[in-house]
Amino acid sequence: MTISGKTKICALIGDPVEHTMSPAMHNTAFQKMGLDYLYVSFRVKPEHLPQAVAGLKALNIAGFNVTIPHKVAVIPLLDSLDPLAEKIGAVNTVVNNNGILRGYNTDAEGFLRALMEHGINPSGKNVIILGAGGAARAIAYILAQKGARLTILNRQQELDWAENIAQLILDELHREVKVFELGHIADVIPGANLVVNATSVGMSPAHNASPVPAGLLDKVAAVFDIVYNPLQTRLLKEAAAAGAKTIGGVDMLVWQGALAFEKWTGKPAPIDLMRQEAVIMLERHED
Ligand code: NAP
Repeated sequence: MTISGKTKICALIGDPVEHTMSPAMHNTAFQKMGLDYLYVSFRVKPEHLPQAVAGLKALNIAGFNVTIPHKVAVIPLLDSLDPLAEKIGAVNTVVNNNGILRGYNTDAEGFLRALMEHGINPSGKNVIILGAGGAARAIAYILAQKGARLTILNRQQELDWAENIAQLILDELHREVKVFELGHIADVIPGANLVVNATSVGMSPAHNASPVPAGLLDKVAAVFDIVYNPLQTRLLKEAAAAGAKTIGGVDMLVWQGALAFEKWTGKPAPIDLMRQEAVIMLERHED
């Protein structure tokens, strides 16, 4: 690919950004589609976020992704917000539309697309979400919007966060969400159609950990672990062995990227190619 004066730039801002899959996924996709775009990543410290966003705008870049720790802090620096991102209170994708920066949350939609791709429609399903951090909030909101019956489990000391998500969903979507401490998992798991791990438990290098005791997994129809490094978490392996349907975090990662790609370029994303690229990168990390 030749970079020219017309090349459009997309970026990632976060801290750290060294292990991101996004440049590989997006640059391969741009190339495959013959699009004159380039994706680069920038490590931006929290104290430099306002200057970084103003700089990206001044440079007229086409759009950018936002990752930890800036997904919430970026909001007041944008010109407009998609309603879903506003409700969730976090932005992971920004589109520059003639100097107007508009924020979106493609994590939520990316999770939903991955779920539907695996043949699971959340409407009317009993779903247990483990964790109450940023990703859990996005996932809980979109699942409630699609009619799932939710139970959120979190560590005792942070139950406030789970209560906060439940209140948001009650206020905005008029749906009740049950909240328990993680220790109650054995009581709530029977009858669950889907368990979503939205904690960081099981993430490399602590890949020997799982948030669900293996003996409970035969009571669950499906498990979605949003942790994508390693590709096959302990939870996914144990869920598969217990006969549950399993969905890995790489699918959500690829879909959130694909949705950002479509917003920046207006073209359908080559999803299979992006997935292939993300898997290659993650397998390399595991070596
Ligand atoms: P976050 O805001 O920091 O939330 C982390 C959550 O994990 C919190 O609820 C935290 O509980 C919980 N947790 C951490 N250690 C725990 C432990 N030992 N036992 C029980 N709970 C524990 O992070 P996030 O942005 O939501 O991300 C969470 C995970 O999802 C990360 O692994 C991230 O890489 C992954 N993720 C994947 C995708 C994707 O596209 N696949 C997208 C976003 C995030 P406390 O509140 O009690 O600390």
